Amino acid sequence: MRIDKFLANCGLGSRSDVKILLKQKRVAINHKKVSSAKIQIQEEQDLVTVDGEVIKYEKFVYYLLNKPKGVISATEDSSHATVLDLLDETAKQKEAFPVGRLDIDTHGLLLITNNGALSHALLSPKKHVDKTYIAKVKGIMTKEDIESFEKGIVFRDGTKCLPASLTVLSTEPSQDTSLVKIVIKEGKFHQVKKMVLACGKEVVDLQRVKMGPLELDENLEKGEFRRLTKQELELFS
Ligand code: URA
Repeated sequence: MRIDKFLANCGLGSRSDVKILLKQKRVAINHKKVSSAKIQIQEEQDLVTVDGEVIKYEKFVYYLLNKPKGVISATEDSSHATVLDLLDETAKQKEAFPVGRLDIDTHGLLLITNNGALSHALLSPKKHVDKTYIAKVKGIMTKEDIESFEKGIVFRDGTKCLPASLTVLSTEPSQDTSLVKIVIKEGKFHQVKKMVLACGKEVVDLQRVKMGPLELDENLEKGEFRRLTKQELELFS
């Protein structure tokens, strides 16, 4: 890999920022100062330093995003902003992608990574990874709805869902609304909205708060992101 690409990938700035670092002779490869952006390095073998500080190569990147409404869970879209537009340059350079999709009007936890194996492990239908949502529902969700979720909701088109958990957190009879927690083990298209619809009610706000062992960080405002911590990464191993 070219040294300028390597440095940009490691988060030292854009390709033009790192060219300046090189010109200023602040970069060394195996203890030798270099200034050309074109030099090729073996990123997992060569020792690269900037101002004497060792730059460690990261093959994989992991971001926790509090997805806001109005952005698409994709890497490109011709008409809407995507979740990648909310992240830093490194995410694009590392070809990170969202692990699964949230609808444009759903907000909350979204993991974005370039680790295909982890993404596969979390999304594989065979793995049944729990996804937890908080939904505001138009209508009062009942004991019968809880039982239907436990048995496995059947959509209007006959599709059967795996058993899921529905907990009623609060109800507002005067407003005809409920706040519920829903835990599902699958990722069917519009699944939560359709499950609630099958009970004759409608989701009016949907937030994902948990995916597998990973929880939404309440310190992240909508649209904010951070890298996963070491401890969070260990939850997946
Ligand atoms: N279920 C939905 O209906 N929408 C989402 O975005 C996620 C789960």
